Amino acid sequence: MKAAKAVGRKDFIKKSFAGAAGIAFVGSARASLHNTEPPLQQSERKIIYRTLGKTGLKLPIVSMGVMNSDNPALIAAALDNGIVHLDTAHGYMRGRNEEIIGRVLKGRPRDSFVIATKIADDKMESAKETEKVFLDRFNLSLKRLGLDYVEILYLHSTSNRADTLHEPFLNALQAARKSGKTRFVGVSTHSRQPEVIQAAIDSKIYDVVLTGYNFTDSGSGVLREAIAKAAKAGLGIVAMKTLGGGTRRGVTVNPKAALKWVLQDTNVHTTIPGFTTFDQLHTDLSVMEDLALTREEQEDLKLQGSVPGLYCLGCETCTGQCPKNLPIPDMMRAYMYTYGHRNLGAAQDLLLSLDVSSDPCRGCPGCTVSCAKGFDVAERISDVVRLRDVPSSFIA
Ligand code: SF4
Ligand code: SF4
Repeated sequence: MKAAKAVGRKDFIKKSFAGAAGIAFVGSARASLHNTEPPLQQSERKIIYRTLGKTGLKLPIVSMGVMNSDNPALIAAALDNGIVHLDTAHGYMRGRNEEIIGRVLKGRPRDSFVIATKIADDKMESAKETEKVFLDRFNLSLKRLGLDYVEILYLHSTSNRADTLHEPFLNALQAARKSGKTRFVGVSTHSRQPEVIQAAIDSKIYDVVLTGYNFTDSGSGVLREAIAKAAKAGLGIVAMKTLGGGTRRGVTVNPKAALKWVLQDTNVHTTIPGFTTFDQLHTDLSVMEDLALTREEQEDLKLQGSVPGLYCLGCETCTGQCPKNLPIPDMMRAYMYTYGHRNLGAAQDLLLSLDVSSDPCRGCPGCTVSCAKGFDVAERISDVVRLRDVPSSFIA
């Protein structure tokens, strides 16, 4: 694969018009997303829309995960070229991500975009305080976004049934929905997704699940089945981590093929690839109109799926193996944010949210953790945990 070359916004727009299969500029073609009809231009533009489960929202199959993008021009170009759903979180860039999005949204018709944000699953001293902190954070998110409401409010990144069903979180989510500050509520999950998805179904409270899902999950089919069950139960399904960690040992994942692979599963209603360049946006937009995997793309995925990834994908095989009970998958995710996404702020925020010291393996006679992917867990922990002590002004 050729490395993506960043281009300016003007170039991108020009390029979009120029190609034989170019993407038409749709700035004037915004339509209401809150009615049951797809936008009028759908047939002209041939964008593929799917309905986000019982929310009834009709969304293009490609949305934007804004986590790693601090470029307002890129976010604006995404919205101007057919993307309508932006996914952010209270903690991304310590709030700057929501502020940037807020600036981009200013002046755009409220029914031309769909916003999701997420609040961390932090537990406080009491249930009442947990609920209050959750809602206070959400109110701050709305302020940063400059919005009265969002379409989706997620409980951020849970990895087990108990947290997904923790009553104070459910109470806060329902209170937010009742107040009209969010239209729908959801849960996001990076690991042990089938367990979280089943809990979301059982809760009968969640409307949407945001789950990691990619071509490396083609083996057991357990996640695929959980997603199918959730979709059948009426939950909207949004997929993230579609690149499966991106770079593999010596091979770069074909991003277009990987995105298509996820969307071949019609139970996935939209995806939130985290593109950060105009070229990447261009690539992802092309998938909105043509999902067919070419023979070459299929071969790419076959090859890339057989090569071990560079980053932990949260299989949780290691859970319980560490005598100090360290949250290894979370720490490995911080490692991926650092080296894969090059997003040190997200990595540091994640590390600081975990109940670990700056030298968590100190005194351990030898690592007993056997990673299913063969990673040297102790080495990665000692590498990434140093970020905890770096002054945040050096990072943000
Ligand atoms: S070295 Fe391994 S087993 Fe020991 S504390 Fe660290 S992660 Fe746990
Ligand atoms: S076993 Fe390895 S790949 Fe699986 S969650 Fe643990 S660190 Fe990640």
